Order: sequence, then C-alpha cells, then structure tokens
Amino acid sequence: MHWILRHLAPPLRKPGPQEQRSIVRTLFHTCPACGKDLAGHAFWRLASVILDSANRRLGQELGKLISERQFGRAAQFQEWKGNENEREYYVVHCPNQRPISLVTVVSKTDLWSDDYVESTEVLDLESSRELLSLVGNRWHSF
Ligand SMILES: [Zn+2]
Repeated sequence: MHWILRHLAPPLRKPGPQEQRSIVRTLFHTCPACGKDLAGHAFWRLASVILDSANRRLGQELGKLISERQFGRAAQFQEWKGNENEREYYVVHCPNQRPISLVTVVSKTDLWSDDYVESTEVLDLESSRELLSLVGNRWHSF
C-alpha cells in the first residue's frame, strides 16, 4: 500500500502529483539512467492497471503495449482503486544522460506488504524521444 494512503481517511482518492512524488521518492531514490539522486529529474505516471483476476486480461494487454513501446496507447490505461493492488508504470526524465527510464511499481493494498519496484529499464533514444513528445510539458519535478 502506498504509505501515504495509509494515513488518508476514506474515501480513498486517486493520488495527485504531490502524493505520486512522495510515493516515487520513497520507492526509488536514484535515477536508473545516471545513478544519481533524483534532484533535478522529473517524472510522469505513464499508466496503471489494477491487479486482480477480473483485470488480468487488461494487465496483460498493458504489459504487451509497454513491451512493444506503444506508449501513447499504454497511457490510456489509468485505472486506480484505493483498495486494490495495482501495477504502475512511471517514466523518469534524466538531465544527465540518456533521458528516459521506465520504472514499474507494484502497489499493494495489504497493510503487511510493501509496495516495491518490479523493474527498471533505461529506454533507447527512439523510445525516449517518443515519450518526450507524449508527455510534453506535463512532467512533475522531484
Ligand atoms: Zn539521472
């Protein structure tokens, strides 16, 4: 579960940029591309999907879009429920080296299990360029 959401009274609401920033900083402290602190970097939540049996097909579909680098279509997946496990895809803009990294996070609702980073990947320049134009001026700074 997002640590910050544990402290919010119901009804659970979708985390805004401030909460996302706290979540991201709590889960990954350094940039996957340059290995430095995230100061000066920016992030955007590309997509999210709920991880339950009813949504398995959607989760697979989103995973396929991500692996095929169809970021525009992937960004249409913005599912969120405060009381469900979910997989979230964040992109991180690095000012130092190759610009964009993809960080996959699994967020648990169970109080006894923590959210974790499932994978990190530094994207190639073509994918990075595509994401730069997709996100435009919507980056959130750390
Ligand atoms: Zn960096």
